[in-house]
Amino acid sequence: MQYLSTRGKSDKVSSAQAIKQGLAPDGGLFVPEKLIEFSKSGLESMLNSEYKSIAKKVFSEYLTDYTAEEINHCVNSAYGDNFDDKDIAPVRLLKDVSVLELWHGPTCAFKDMALQILPHFLVLAAKKTGEESEIVILVATSGDTGKAALEGFRDVTGTRIIVFFPESGVSEVQKLQMITQEGKNVHVVAVEGNFDDCQSGVKRVFSDKDFNEELNQKSYKLSSANSINWGRLIPQVVYYFSSYLKLVRENKINFGDKVNFVVPTGNFGNILAGYYAMKMGLPVNKLICAANSNNVLTDFIKTGMYDKNREFLRTISPSMDILISSNLERLLFEVTDRNADKIDQWMAELKQSGKYEVDDDVKEKVQDIFWSEYATDEDTMKIIKEVWDKHNYLVDTHTAVAFKVYEDYKSTTGDETQTIILSTASPFKFNASVAKAVLGEEKIKGKSEFLLLEMLSDYTGWPIPASLRGLDKRKVLHTDKIAPVDMKQKVANILGV
Ligand SMILES: *Cc1c(COP(=O)(O)O)cnc(C)c1O
Repeated sequence: MQYLSTRGKSDKVSSAQAIKQGLAPDGGLFVPEKLIEFSKSGLESMLNSEYKSIAKKVFSEYLTDYTAEEINHCVNSAYGDNFDDKDIAPVRLLKDVSVLELWHGPTCAFKDMALQILPHFLVLAAKKTGEESEIVILVATSGDTGKAALEGFRDVTGTRIIVFFPESGVSEVQKLQMITQEGKNVHVVAVEGNFDDCQSGVKRVFSDKDFNEELNQKSYKLSSANSINWGRLIPQVVYYFSSYLKLVRENKINFGDKVNFVVPTGNFGNILAGYYAMKMGLPVNKLICAANSNNVLTDFIKTGMYDKNREFLRTISPSMDILISSNLERLLFEVTDRNADKIDQWMAELKQSGKYEVDDDVKEKVQDIFWSEYATDEDTMKIIKEVWDKHNYLVDTHTAVAFKVYEDYKSTTGDETQTIILSTASPFKFNASVAKAVLGEEKIKGKSEFLLLEMLSDYTGWPIPASLRGLDKRKVLHTDKIAPVDMKQKVANILGV
Protein backbone atom coordinates (compact mmCIF):
# COMPACT_ATOMS: atom_id res chain seq x y z
CA MET A 1 0.00 0.00 0.00
CA GLN A 2 1.36 3.38 -1.06
CA TYR A 3 0.43 6.76 0.42
CA LEU A 4 -0.49 9.94 -1.47
CA SER A 5 -0.68 13.54 -0.40
CA THR A 6 -4.12 15.21 -0.25
CA ARG A 7 -2.60 18.13 -2.16
CA GLY A 8 -1.31 15.99 -5.01
CA LYS A 9 2.13 17.56 -5.33
CA SER A 10 4.26 14.96 -3.52
CA ASP A 11 5.45 11.55 -4.63
CA LYS A 12 3.84 8.39 -3.37
CA VAL A 13 5.56 6.85 -0.37
CA SER A 14 5.44 3.64 1.66
CA SER A 15 3.61 3.49 4.99
CA ALA A 16 6.94 3.62 6.83
CA GLN A 17 7.83 6.82 4.96
CA ALA A 18 4.40 8.33 5.62
CA ILE A 19 4.71 7.59 9.33
CA LYS A 20 8.26 8.87 9.51
CA GLN A 21 7.49 12.12 7.70
CA GLY A 22 4.14 12.87 9.36
CA LEU A 23 3.21 15.65 6.95
CA ALA A 24 3.67 15.39 3.16
CA PRO A 25 6.32 17.70 1.65
CA ASP A 26 3.65 19.73 -0.21
CA GLY A 27 1.90 20.52 3.07
CA GLY A 28 -0.84 17.94 2.52
CA LEU A 29 -1.71 14.91 4.61
CA PHE A 30 -0.82 11.35 3.67
CA VAL A 31 -3.71 9.08 2.77
CA PRO A 32 -3.68 5.45 1.64
CA GLU A 33 -3.82 4.97 -2.10
CA LYS A 34 -7.03 3.04 -1.65
CA LEU A 35 -9.26 2.11 1.26
CA ILE A 36 -9.51 -1.56 2.08
CA GLU A 37 -13.00 -2.96 2.47
CA PHE A 38 -13.60 -5.91 4.77
CA SER A 39 -16.15 -8.38 3.48
CA LYS A 40 -19.19 -9.06 5.64
CA SER A 41 -17.87 -12.50 6.46
CA GLY A 42 -14.42 -11.08 7.16
CA LEU A 43 -15.96 -8.68 9.63
CA GLU A 44 -18.13 -11.35 11.19
CA SER A 45 -15.13 -13.62 11.67
CA MET A 46 -13.74 -10.97 14.06
CA LEU A 47 -16.83 -11.15 16.25
CA ASN A 48 -15.10 -12.81 19.18
CA SER A 49 -11.66 -11.32 18.61
CA GLU A 50 -9.94 -9.38 21.34
CA TYR A 51 -8.82 -5.81 20.77
CA LYS A 52 -5.28 -6.75 19.85
CA SER A 53 -6.37 -9.18 17.13
CA ILE A 54 -8.63 -6.60 15.51
CA ALA A 55 -5.77 -4.11 15.63
CA LYS A 56 -3.42 -6.57 13.93
CA LYS A 57 -5.96 -7.23 11.20
CA VAL A 58 -6.48 -3.51 10.49
CA PHE A 59 -2.77 -2.67 10.54
CA SER A 60 -1.79 -5.55 8.30
CA GLU A 61 -4.05 -4.10 5.57
CA TYR A 62 -2.53 -0.62 5.69
CA LEU A 63 1.05 -1.04 6.89
CA THR A 64 1.98 -3.50 4.19
CA ASP A 65 5.70 -2.82 4.41
CA TYR A 66 5.69 -4.01 8.04
CA THR A 67 6.00 -7.76 8.53
CA ALA A 68 3.40 -9.68 10.52
CA GLU A 69 6.04 -10.15 13.17
CA GLU A 70 6.69 -6.41 13.38
CA ILE A 71 2.99 -5.62 13.64
CA ASN A 72 2.63 -8.23 16.38
CA HIS A 73 5.51 -6.66 18.23
CA CYS A 74 4.01 -3.14 17.98
CA VAL A 75 0.53 -4.22 19.05
CA ASN A 76 1.73 -6.40 21.91
CA SER A 77 3.99 -3.66 23.22
CA ALA A 78 1.27 -1.00 23.01
CA TYR A 79 -1.84 -2.65 24.44
CA GLY A 80 -1.01 -4.47 27.64
CA ASP A 81 -0.74 -3.77 31.35
CA ASN A 82 -0.27 -0.09 30.65
CA PHE A 83 -4.06 -0.08 30.22
CA ASP A 84 -6.08 -0.58 33.39
CA ASP A 85 -8.85 -2.54 31.67
CA LYS A 86 -8.25 -5.86 29.97
CA ASP A 87 -10.63 -4.92 27.12
CA ILE A 88 -8.34 -1.90 26.35
CA ALA A 89 -11.37 0.07 25.13
CA PRO A 90 -14.32 -1.24 27.17
CA VAL A 91 -17.94 -0.48 26.29
CA ARG A 92 -20.45 0.41 29.03
CA LEU A 93 -24.05 -0.34 28.22
CA LEU A 94 -26.28 2.35 29.73
CA LYS A 95 -30.05 2.28 29.50
CA ASP A 96 -30.50 3.90 26.13
CA VAL A 97 -26.99 4.39 24.81
CA SER A 98 -23.58 2.69 24.91
CA VAL A 99 -20.35 4.39 25.90
CA LEU A 100 -16.98 3.48 24.46
CA GLU A 101 -14.37 4.33 27.09
CA LEU A 102 -11.13 5.36 25.46
CA TRP A 103 -9.32 6.51 28.58
CA HIS A 104 -7.92 3.43 30.24
CA GLY A 105 -4.36 4.12 29.10
CA PRO A 106 -1.54 5.73 31.11
CA THR A 107 -2.65 9.37 30.69
CA CYS A 108 -6.41 8.88 31.16
CA ALA A 109 -7.44 10.27 27.76
CA PHE A 110 -8.13 8.76 24.37
CA LYS A 111 -4.86 9.95 22.83
CA ASP A 112 -3.20 6.93 24.46
CA MET A 113 -5.07 4.64 22.08
CA ALA A 114 -2.81 5.88 19.29
CA LEU A 115 0.20 7.27 21.10
CA GLN A 116 1.04 4.09 22.92
CA ILE A 117 1.65 2.47 19.56
CA LEU A 118 2.94 5.29 17.34
CA PRO A 119 6.49 5.28 18.81
CA HIS A 120 6.79 1.58 17.97
CA PHE A 121 5.61 2.21 14.40
CA LEU A 122 7.99 5.12 14.12
CA VAL A 123 11.13 3.44 15.41
CA LEU A 124 10.55 0.62 12.94
CA ALA A 125 9.79 3.12 10.17
CA ALA A 126 13.14 4.79 10.75
CA LYS A 127 14.92 1.45 10.62
CA LYS A 128 13.09 0.37 7.46
CA THR A 129 13.86 3.55 5.60
CA GLY A 130 17.55 3.50 6.51
CA GLU A 131 17.23 6.60 8.64
CA GLU A 132 20.36 7.38 10.60
CA SER A 133 19.34 10.72 12.06
CA GLU A 134 17.77 11.04 15.44
CA ILE A 135 14.00 11.47 15.11
CA VAL A 136 12.76 14.64 16.78
CA ILE A 137 9.05 14.63 17.52
CA LEU A 138 7.51 18.09 17.61
CA VAL A 139 4.10 18.28 19.24
CA ALA A 140 1.60 21.08 19.61
CA THR A 141 -0.95 20.10 22.21
CA SER A 142 -4.27 21.33 23.49
CA GLY A 143 -3.52 19.29 26.61
CA ASP A 144 -3.96 15.56 26.13
CA THR A 145 -1.78 14.83 23.12
CA GLY A 146 1.28 16.30 24.81
CA LYS A 147 1.19 14.06 27.83
CA ALA A 148 0.22 11.01 25.83
CA ALA A 149 3.08 11.62 23.39
CA LEU A 150 5.54 12.18 26.24
CA GLU A 151 4.51 8.89 27.82
CA GLY A 152 4.67 7.09 24.49
CA PHE A 153 8.12 8.39 23.52
CA ARG A 154 9.91 8.70 26.85
CA ASP A 155 13.27 6.97 26.69
CA VAL A 156 12.55 5.44 23.28
CA THR A 157 16.00 5.01 21.75
CA GLY A 158 16.68 7.11 18.66
CA THR A 159 13.97 9.66 19.42
CA ARG A 160 13.56 13.00 21.15
CA ILE A 161 10.34 14.76 21.88
CA ILE A 162 9.57 18.47 22.24
CA VAL A 163 6.06 19.42 23.38
CA PHE A 164 4.59 22.93 23.13
CA PHE A 165 1.44 23.62 25.13
CA PRO A 166 -0.66 26.81 25.49
CA GLU A 167 0.29 28.16 28.87
CA SER A 168 -3.19 28.96 30.08
CA GLY A 169 -5.18 26.74 27.74
CA VAL A 170 -4.87 23.48 29.68
CA SER A 171 -6.22 22.24 33.00
CA GLU A 172 -4.14 22.17 36.17
CA VAL A 173 -3.95 18.39 36.04
CA GLN A 174 -2.93 18.42 32.36
CA LYS A 175 -0.25 21.00 33.01
CA LEU A 176 1.20 19.10 35.97
CA GLN A 177 1.14 15.86 34.03
CA MET A 178 3.39 17.51 31.45
CA ILE A 179 5.75 19.65 33.49
CA THR A 180 6.56 16.75 35.81
CA GLN A 181 7.34 14.41 32.91
CA GLU A 182 10.41 12.28 33.42
CA GLY A 183 12.60 10.83 30.70
CA LYS A 184 16.03 11.54 29.21
CA ASN A 185 14.73 12.59 25.79
CA VAL A 186 11.77 14.82 26.72
CA HIS A 187 11.34 18.62 26.52
CA VAL A 188 8.21 20.52 27.55
CA VAL A 189 7.70 24.21 26.71
CA ALA A 190 4.84 26.54 27.68
CA VAL A 191 3.77 28.99 24.94
CA GLU A 192 2.13 32.34 25.66
CA GLY A 193 -0.77 31.83 23.28
CA ASN A 194 -3.59 29.42 22.45
CA PHE A 195 -3.52 25.97 20.84
CA ASP A 196 -3.78 27.36 17.31
CA ASP A 197 -0.68 29.50 17.99
CA CYS A 198 1.16 26.35 19.07
CA GLN A 199 -0.05 24.37 16.09
CA SER A 200 0.76 27.13 13.59
CA GLY A 201 4.21 27.52 15.17
CA VAL A 202 4.94 23.81 14.82
CA LYS A 203 3.70 23.83 11.22
CA ARG A 204 6.01 26.77 10.47
CA VAL A 205 9.00 24.86 11.82
CA PHE A 206 8.07 21.82 9.72
CA SER A 207 7.73 23.82 6.53
CA ASP A 208 10.93 25.86 7.00
CA LYS A 209 13.13 24.21 4.35
CA ASP A 210 16.40 25.90 5.33
CA PHE A 211 15.97 25.07 8.96
CA ASN A 212 15.14 21.44 8.19
CA GLU A 213 18.21 21.18 6.01
CA GLU A 214 20.35 22.57 8.78
CA LEU A 215 18.87 20.01 11.16
CA ASN A 216 19.50 17.20 8.71
CA GLN A 217 23.14 18.17 8.52
CA LYS A 218 23.32 17.82 12.26
CA SER A 219 21.63 14.42 12.01
CA TYR A 220 18.20 15.42 13.24
CA LYS A 221 14.98 14.61 11.44
CA LEU A 222 11.73 16.28 12.45
CA SER A 223 8.58 14.23 12.72
CA SER A 224 5.11 14.70 14.09
CA ALA A 225 2.96 12.89 16.61
CA ASN A 226 -0.05 15.12 16.00
CA SER A 227 -3.15 13.51 14.59
CA ILE A 228 -2.09 14.50 11.09
CA ASN A 229 0.29 11.51 11.22
CA TRP A 230 -1.17 8.42 9.57
CA GLY A 231 0.36 6.35 12.36
CA ARG A 232 -1.91 8.21 14.78
CA LEU A 233 -5.02 7.83 12.73
CA ILE A 234 -5.00 4.17 11.83
CA PRO A 235 -4.93 2.91 15.46
CA GLN A 236 -8.11 4.90 16.07
CA VAL A 237 -10.00 2.94 13.43
CA VAL A 238 -9.69 -0.20 15.53
CA TYR A 239 -12.06 0.73 18.36
CA TYR A 240 -14.91 1.56 16.00
CA PHE A 241 -14.81 -2.09 14.98
CA SER A 242 -14.26 -3.49 18.47
CA SER A 243 -17.16 -1.50 19.96
CA TYR A 244 -19.52 -2.45 17.15
CA LEU A 245 -18.71 -6.14 17.58
CA LYS A 246 -19.23 -5.81 21.32
CA LEU A 247 -22.80 -4.55 20.74
CA VAL A 248 -23.42 -7.57 18.54
CA ARG A 249 -22.09 -9.91 21.23
CA GLU A 250 -24.29 -8.21 23.81
CA ASN A 251 -27.35 -8.63 21.58
CA LYS A 252 -27.89 -4.89 21.41
CA ILE A 253 -27.84 -5.19 17.63
CA ASN A 254 -27.82 -7.92 15.01
CA PHE A 255 -24.71 -8.34 12.96
CA GLY A 256 -25.07 -6.02 9.95
CA ASP A 257 -27.33 -3.47 11.70
CA LYS A 258 -26.17 0.10 11.44
CA VAL A 259 -25.18 2.16 14.48
CA ASN A 260 -24.52 5.84 15.15
CA PHE A 261 -21.32 7.11 16.72
CA VAL A 262 -21.20 10.38 18.61
CA VAL A 263 -17.71 11.83 18.74
CA PRO A 264 -16.52 14.85 20.71
CA THR A 265 -14.43 16.57 18.10
CA GLY A 266 -11.63 19.11 17.85
CA ASN A 267 -9.04 18.36 15.21
CA PHE A 268 -11.44 15.97 13.41
CA GLY A 269 -9.06 13.05 13.95
CA ASN A 270 -11.14 10.72 16.05
CA ILE A 271 -14.31 11.11 13.99
CA LEU A 272 -12.36 10.76 10.75
CA ALA A 273 -11.20 7.35 11.95
CA GLY A 274 -14.91 6.49 12.23
CA TYR A 275 -15.40 7.59 8.63
CA TYR A 276 -12.56 5.33 7.53
CA ALA A 277 -14.07 2.44 9.51
CA MET A 278 -17.34 3.03 7.66
CA LYS A 279 -15.53 3.07 4.32
CA MET A 280 -13.93 -0.22 5.36
CA GLY A 281 -17.32 -1.84 5.70
CA LEU A 282 -18.47 -1.06 9.24
CA PRO A 283 -22.27 -0.56 9.21
CA VAL A 284 -22.63 3.10 10.22
CA ASN A 285 -25.80 5.16 10.04
CA LYS A 286 -24.57 8.59 11.16
CA LEU A 287 -21.35 10.01 12.50
CA ILE A 288 -22.41 12.72 14.90
CA CYS A 289 -19.84 15.43 15.32
CA ALA A 290 -20.09 17.02 18.76
CA ALA A 291 -18.37 20.40 19.12
CA ASN A 292 -18.06 22.86 21.96
CA SER A 293 -18.59 26.62 21.55
CA ASN A 294 -15.66 26.72 19.13
CA ASN A 295 -18.25 25.39 16.72
CA VAL A 296 -16.49 25.87 13.43
CA LEU A 297 -17.14 22.23 12.43
CA THR A 298 -20.83 22.39 13.29
CA ASP A 299 -21.20 25.42 11.06
CA PHE A 300 -19.24 23.72 8.32
CA ILE A 301 -21.36 20.58 8.38
CA LYS A 302 -24.55 22.66 8.35
CA THR A 303 -23.56 25.19 5.69
CA GLY A 304 -20.54 23.97 3.72
CA MET A 305 -18.65 27.12 4.74
CA TYR A 306 -15.55 26.63 6.86
CA ASP A 307 -14.79 29.93 8.55
CA LYS A 308 -12.27 30.23 11.33
CA ASN A 309 -12.62 34.01 11.52
CA ARG A 310 -14.23 34.08 14.91
CA GLU A 311 -13.24 34.58 18.48
CA PHE A 312 -11.25 31.70 19.96
CA LEU A 313 -13.10 30.67 23.12
CA ARG A 314 -11.64 28.97 26.15
CA THR A 315 -14.06 26.32 27.27
CA ILE A 316 -14.22 23.66 29.96
CA SER A 317 -13.55 21.06 27.25
CA PRO A 318 -10.13 22.47 26.31
CA SER A 319 -8.97 19.54 24.18
CA MET A 320 -11.61 20.59 21.68
CA ASP A 321 -10.73 24.30 21.67
CA ILE A 322 -9.58 24.29 18.08
CA LEU A 323 -10.46 26.47 15.10
CA ILE A 324 -8.38 24.72 12.46
CA SER A 325 -9.43 21.09 12.25
CA SER A 326 -6.52 19.69 10.29
CA ASN A 327 -7.90 16.25 9.59
CA LEU A 328 -10.95 17.63 7.79
CA GLU A 329 -8.64 17.85 4.80
CA ARG A 330 -8.60 14.05 4.56
CA LEU A 331 -12.38 13.88 4.57
CA LEU A 332 -12.62 16.51 1.85
CA PHE A 333 -10.15 14.54 -0.22
CA GLU A 334 -12.45 11.50 -0.09
CA VAL A 335 -15.78 13.28 -0.62
CA THR A 336 -14.42 15.16 -3.65
CA ASP A 337 -13.42 11.79 -5.11
CA ARG A 338 -9.82 12.64 -4.36
CA ASN A 339 -9.65 15.97 -6.13
CA ALA A 340 -6.26 17.19 -4.91
CA ASP A 341 -6.49 20.45 -6.88
CA LYS A 342 -9.69 21.38 -5.08
CA ILE A 343 -8.14 20.58 -1.70
CA ASP A 344 -5.06 22.60 -2.57
CA GLN A 345 -7.25 25.55 -3.52
CA TRP A 346 -9.42 25.40 -0.38
CA MET A 347 -6.42 25.07 1.91
CA ALA A 348 -4.78 28.05 0.21
CA GLU A 349 -7.99 30.04 0.80
CA LEU A 350 -8.03 28.93 4.41
CA LYS A 351 -4.48 30.13 4.84
CA GLN A 352 -5.11 33.46 3.12
CA SER A 353 -8.56 34.46 4.27
CA GLY A 354 -9.32 31.97 7.04
CA LYS A 355 -12.24 30.45 5.16
CA TYR A 356 -13.43 28.44 2.20
CA GLU A 357 -16.74 27.15 0.93
CA VAL A 358 -17.19 23.72 -0.60
CA ASP A 359 -19.44 22.99 -3.58
CA ASP A 360 -23.06 21.96 -2.99
CA ASP A 361 -22.52 18.35 -4.00
CA VAL A 362 -19.63 18.06 -1.55
CA LYS A 363 -21.75 19.59 1.19
CA GLU A 364 -24.53 17.09 0.48
CA LYS A 365 -22.14 14.17 0.62
CA VAL A 366 -20.83 15.39 3.97
CA GLN A 367 -24.38 15.78 5.29
CA ASP A 368 -25.33 12.28 4.16
CA ILE A 369 -22.86 10.90 6.67
CA PHE A 370 -22.33 13.58 9.32
CA TRP A 371 -24.65 15.45 11.63
CA SER A 372 -23.43 18.11 13.99
CA GLU A 373 -24.42 20.33 16.87
CA TYR A 374 -22.52 21.98 19.69
CA ALA A 375 -22.75 22.37 23.45
CA THR A 376 -21.95 25.47 25.48
CA ASP A 377 -20.16 25.24 28.82
CA GLU A 378 -23.49 25.71 30.55
CA ASP A 379 -25.02 22.80 28.60
CA THR A 380 -21.96 20.73 29.44
CA MET A 381 -22.20 21.30 33.19
CA LYS A 382 -25.91 20.57 33.18
CA ILE A 383 -25.59 17.29 31.36
CA ILE A 384 -22.77 15.96 33.56
CA LYS A 385 -25.20 16.17 36.46
CA GLU A 386 -28.08 14.72 34.45
CA VAL A 387 -26.05 11.75 33.26
CA TRP A 388 -24.86 11.09 36.81
CA ASP A 389 -28.40 11.29 38.23
CA LYS A 390 -29.90 9.17 35.48
CA HIS A 391 -27.25 6.49 34.98
CA ASN A 392 -24.96 6.71 37.98
CA TYR A 393 -22.28 7.25 35.37
CA LEU A 394 -19.69 9.99 35.56
CA VAL A 395 -18.51 11.71 32.37
CA ASP A 396 -15.78 14.24 31.77
CA THR A 397 -16.50 17.55 30.06
CA HIS A 398 -15.61 16.35 26.54
CA THR A 399 -17.77 13.27 26.79
CA ALA A 400 -20.51 15.47 28.22
CA VAL A 401 -20.47 17.56 25.04
CA ALA A 402 -21.17 14.35 23.12
CA PHE A 403 -24.04 13.39 25.44
CA LYS A 404 -25.63 16.81 24.98
CA VAL A 405 -25.29 16.74 21.21
CA TYR A 406 -26.75 13.26 21.14
CA GLU A 407 -29.85 14.58 22.96
CA ASP A 408 -30.11 17.30 20.31
CA TYR A 409 -29.76 14.70 17.60
CA LYS A 410 -32.51 12.52 19.00
CA SER A 411 -34.94 15.36 19.55
CA THR A 412 -34.27 16.80 16.08
CA THR A 413 -34.35 13.60 14.06
CA GLY A 414 -36.31 11.10 16.16
CA ASP A 415 -33.73 8.50 15.10
CA GLU A 416 -33.76 5.46 17.39
CA THR A 417 -30.73 3.70 15.88
CA GLN A 418 -28.44 2.12 18.50
CA THR A 419 -25.79 4.64 19.36
CA ILE A 420 -22.26 4.56 20.74
CA ILE A 421 -20.90 7.66 22.43
CA LEU A 422 -17.12 7.92 22.44
CA SER A 423 -15.87 8.86 25.88
CA THR A 424 -12.54 10.56 25.44
CA ALA A 425 -11.28 11.28 28.94
CA SER A 426 -11.56 10.04 32.47
CA PRO A 427 -13.82 12.35 34.51
CA PHE A 428 -10.96 12.64 37.00
CA LYS A 429 -8.81 14.33 34.42
CA PHE A 430 -11.15 17.34 34.25
CA ASN A 431 -12.22 17.07 37.84
CA ALA A 432 -12.69 20.77 38.61
CA SER A 433 -15.64 21.07 36.25
CA VAL A 434 -16.94 17.58 36.92
CA ALA A 435 -16.88 18.08 40.70
CA LYS A 436 -18.61 21.41 40.36
CA ALA A 437 -21.31 19.84 38.19
CA VAL A 438 -22.14 16.96 40.51
CA LEU A 439 -21.27 18.36 43.95
CA GLY A 440 -22.33 21.97 43.43
CA GLU A 441 -20.37 25.21 43.55
CA GLU A 442 -20.60 25.64 47.34
CA LYS A 443 -18.89 22.36 48.17
CA ILE A 444 -15.94 22.85 45.87
CA LYS A 445 -15.17 26.51 46.51
CA GLY A 446 -11.50 27.13 47.27
CA LYS A 447 -10.55 23.45 46.93
CA SER A 448 -7.50 22.46 44.90
CA GLU A 449 -7.91 20.12 41.92
CA PHE A 450 -6.19 17.47 44.00
CA LEU A 451 -8.58 17.64 46.90
CA LEU A 452 -11.39 17.55 44.36
CA LEU A 453 -10.06 14.26 43.00
CA GLU A 454 -10.55 12.75 46.41
CA MET A 455 -13.93 14.34 46.96
CA LEU A 456 -15.15 13.02 43.61
CA SER A 457 -13.83 9.59 44.36
CA ASP A 458 -15.52 9.55 47.77
CA TYR A 459 -18.80 10.76 46.34
CA THR A 460 -18.96 8.35 43.40
CA GLY A 461 -17.09 5.36 44.78
CA TRP A 462 -14.97 5.42 41.60
CA PRO A 463 -11.23 5.00 42.19
CA ILE A 464 -8.82 7.79 41.23
CA PRO A 465 -6.75 6.55 38.26
CA ALA A 466 -3.26 5.57 39.40
CA SER A 467 -1.46 8.06 37.15
CA LEU A 468 -3.37 11.03 38.62
CA ARG A 469 -2.76 10.11 42.25
CA GLY A 470 0.00 12.10 43.91
CA LEU A 471 0.57 14.27 40.86
CA ASP A 472 0.79 17.42 42.98
CA LYS A 473 3.70 15.95 44.92
CA ARG A 474 5.83 15.21 41.90
CA LYS A 475 8.79 17.39 41.08
CA VAL A 476 8.36 20.08 38.39
CA LEU A 477 11.05 19.40 35.80
CA HIS A 478 10.12 21.78 32.96
CA THR A 479 9.76 25.53 33.45
CA ASP A 480 10.43 27.10 30.01
CA LYS A 481 7.95 29.69 28.78
CA ILE A 482 8.18 31.44 25.40
CA ALA A 483 6.26 33.59 22.90
CA PRO A 484 4.84 31.84 19.80
CA VAL A 485 7.36 33.61 17.50
CA ASP A 486 10.25 32.03 19.40
CA MET A 487 9.26 28.41 18.85
CA LYS A 488 11.75 27.76 16.06
CA GLN A 489 14.57 29.31 18.07
CA LYS A 490 13.60 27.14 21.01
CA VAL A 491 13.86 23.99 18.90
CA ALA A 492 17.28 25.15 17.70
CA ASN A 493 18.45 25.79 21.25
CA ILE A 494 17.25 22.45 22.54
CA LEU A 495 19.01 20.61 19.74
CA GLY A 496 22.09 22.81 19.91
CA VAL A 497 22.07 23.88 16.24
C1 LIG B 1 -8.03 15.30 21.60
C2 LIG B 1 -9.29 15.16 22.35
C3 LIG B 1 -10.54 15.32 21.71
C4 LIG B 1 -10.65 15.71 20.27
O1 LIG B 1 -10.20 14.73 19.40
P1 LIG B 1 -9.85 15.08 17.89
O2 LIG B 1 -9.23 13.87 17.33
O3 LIG B 1 -8.93 16.26 17.93
O4 LIG B 1 -11.14 15.41 17.23
C5 LIG B 1 -11.67 15.13 22.47
N1 LIG B 1 -11.61 14.83 23.78
C6 LIG B 1 -10.44 14.68 24.42
C7 LIG B 1 -10.44 14.37 25.88
C8 LIG B 1 -9.25 14.83 23.73
O5 LIG B 1 -8.08 14.68 24.37
